[in-house]
Amino acid sequence: MRAWSAPDVPTLPVTGPRVSLHDTATGRLAPTEPHGPARLYVCGITPYDATHMGHAATYVGFDLLVRAWRNAGHEVTYVQNVTDVDDPLLERADKVGVSWVDIAERETQLFREDMEALHVLPPAHYVGAVESIPWVIELVERLAEAGAVYRVDDDLYFSVAADPGFGTVSGADRATMRAIFGERGGDPDRAGKRDPLDCLLWRAERPGEPAWESPWGRGRPGWHIECTAIALRHLGSAFDVQGGGSDLVFPHHEMCASEAQVAVPAHPFARAYVHAGMVAYDGEKMSKSRGNLVFVSQLRRSDVDPMAIRLVLLAHHYRSDWEWTDDLLWAAGRTLESWRKAVALGAGAPAGPVVERVLAALADDLDAPTALAVVQDWVDATLGTTGLADTSDPDAARVVRQVVDAALGVVL
Ligand code: ZN
Repeated sequence: MRAWSAPDVPTLPVTGPRVSLHDTATGRLAPTEPHGPARLYVCGITPYDATHMGHAATYVGFDLLVRAWRNAGHEVTYVQNVTDVDDPLLERADKVGVSWVDIAERETQLFREDMEALHVLPPAHYVGAVESIPWVIELVERLAEAGAVYRVDDDLYFSVAADPGFGTVSGADRATMRAIFGERGGDPDRAGKRDPLDCLLWRAERPGEPAWESPWGRGRPGWHIECTAIALRHLGSAFDVQGGGSDLVFPHHEMCASEAQVAVPAHPFARAYVHAGMVAYDGEKMSKSRGNLVFVSQLRRSDVDPMAIRLVLLAHHYRSDWEWTDDLLWAAGRTLESWRKAVALGAGAPAGPVVERVLAALADDLDAPTALAVVQDWVDATLGTTGLADTSDPDAARVVRQVVDAALGVVL
């Protein structure tokens, strides 16, 4: 599937430090050590509704990682999926009487436009669930050879007992896993399963649902196996980072990891599991079921500068949970205005330390709030020292503009 257009990103004349990230599985900050290109998989959208601020926060968060790696001198292979066939999409299609294919295409296109507006770098491989079906089938066959697959009626399930490492991504106990599993698309109470936590690999065709041919009859892939198959296909195992929102830690990332570790034993699925926080609005986590959503596209239509939206997102550490308010957007608009005013002066306070400190903040678990504070200090000093030739750096504005663009994705 086509991704979106890449913005022009300036190449910095200096190399940033090695990038460290907080790994959910170990609970610790650890340096990333890519062998060859840095390999990143971030779970994509299920395209049944527009991109809300929670999604935008996640994708901007991982965009900082892509930029930090590039600025540290790595090539990056970034893969993202689109769950373009799944229960929520089919339910929405039924409800509104539009074909699921049309909804998926329309919302995926809107997502591309939102990402472009927010200056998010596109993945090298943007892959739909539907186009991944041949690899899903191949992977399920491998899991079956390993004795990890069984039937419940005509559906196929993955036996989590086949992976001795099951549970190590989330570190959750079984009672917690069981409770969350039911809330996030799992079916712990289905009769005939060997373990309530076993997850669906292949759902046999149901009347009125789309289905594809497979060695086990017509049907469609389960959710987790789609990402496992796409990641193994495009990145191989032991890739650097599996990323997504923190609501994907369990079951999604746990299941992906276990499936991959049974299919390719002796290798972890990913070397680090990295998760973005949740964004609330009106006191609760932004979610489709609650309807408390702020859409990127809606703000764009109201002529809000996408760079101001991006600044709001960057003002919160990617791992923190926070609440969107309209005041934050107004404040970001004023910040953007003052930054643009400062770089319009041409000369300014010395820019060398700004570059060094911004790159250092982002290499330290993508600490964008600290990076913003560094830029703000420079802006304040520059606007305050206008005309003081002895403290001014004649090339400062160009250098600051370049690092703010390359590292933070904000165009001034
Ligand atoms: Zn995924």
